[in-house]
Amino acid sequence: MGPMRAAQLFLAALGNNPAVQRIRVRLHGSLGATGRGHATDRALARVLPAHLFNPETDIEWLPETPDLPHPNTLDLMAFDSDGAIRLDQRYVSVGGGLVERIRSDGSRERDCPAAPARPVYLVSSAAEILDICAAQKLRWSDVQLANESLSQEEVFRRLGIIWKTMRECIERGLTAEGQLPGPLGVRRRAPEAYRRMKSDAQQGPLSDPLELRLHAYALAVNEENAAGGVVVTAPTNGAAGVLPAAFAASQDIHRLTNEQIARGLLTASLIAGLIKLHASLSGAEMGCQGEVGSASAMAAGGLVEMFGGTPKQVEMAAEIALEHHLGMTCDPVGGLVQIPCIERNVMGAVKAVHAASLALGSAGDHKISLDQAIIAMRDIGRDMHARYKETAQGGLAKVAVDVSRVKC
Ligand code: SF4
Repeated sequence: MGPMRAAQLFLAALGNNPAVQRIRVRLHGSLGATGRGHATDRALARVLPAHLFNPETDIEWLPETPDLPHPNTLDLMAFDSDGAIRLDQRYVSVGGGLVERIRSDGSRERDCPAAPARPVYLVSSAAEILDICAAQKLRWSDVQLANESLSQEEVFRRLGIIWKTMRECIERGLTAEGQLPGPLGVRRRAPEAYRRMKSDAQQGPLSDPLELRLHAYALAVNEENAAGGVVVTAPTNGAAGVLPAAFAASQDIHRLTNEQIARGLLTASLIAGLIKLHASLSGAEMGCQGEVGSASAMAAGGLVEMFGGTPKQVEMAAEIALEHHLGMTCDPVGGLVQIPCIERNVMGAVKAVHAASLALGSAGDHKISLDQAIIAMRDIGRDMHARYKETAQGGLAKVAVDVSRVKC
């Protein structure tokens, strides 16, 4: 999503320039290492005009570039017929589809979607949100709703579209049989999990109805993602299955209304904002704790909000879910978002539900706050070796290569 957005901004800056004959892209760092497996080349080709850009010949894959401003850095360059550069811009993809342009003096220009000039509640921590909720008898979703520049009706309408897109993705994934693209030969398992979920006879041991639903739904979304289907970035594409699975499974079993879902989404987005502000949602910066861990925290807090929990219980659920993903590496085998990513989303959804359940079963008092867990994640992410941060050079990615060599 990030490189796609960068390409859109680059084209907008380029304007209608008839002298431009060719566009080339340099993908650095993690983008250079795992961009093929993450379909970055295809994403760029969807935006950049085919007569100016050929993904086969106009991308340089540069995983080893030193001194980058961010592990996900890309340069876009437009050339005229003499090979002279007409426009050269550098972007960083900071997670969740957001990008920033690096100016020539090294400062960053944010690609900020329309935001209210002055938010009603200027919050930068979960502690502040809890104070506001306590003082004004509000819920997490009320705080987020108040800060939206659109009317409540319009916000709910748009959240309805997002929720419909998430559910449609689940529906497609549940019935799509076959093998995922790429050399790993990974078979789609969501249809099988769906059949098990529906059939009493096939369920067997350890078959809690909610958990079977979580398994099937998370597999469905992440298999769609791995196949290049339409998913909702929540907070990233690799972690797109956690929240829809947790919310949809809960909605089906507990008959939650779409307004409850909308309030869960508002809460989840507030939690993601806190993580993004103090740490990062990007696997290239934080490892998978920043992607699936963040998604699980968002889903856990959102679930508690949907079930009418207190603000303190929302905070507690998000903290529990994040805490138990701390240290989780990003080591996608072959650079593809398949192993361990697909099952990892299942586990993130399961943890989210259990974190929400633990929080709903308590008064919301706990020792480590969500703010502290986010800072812990940030520090762990900074200390984590680059080989475990979306470069496919360590962990499972390395073992898988080593094992295949041994077998040869
Ligand atoms: S391991 Fe996690 S962070 Fe890395 S690509 Fe997979 S889902 Fe994303």
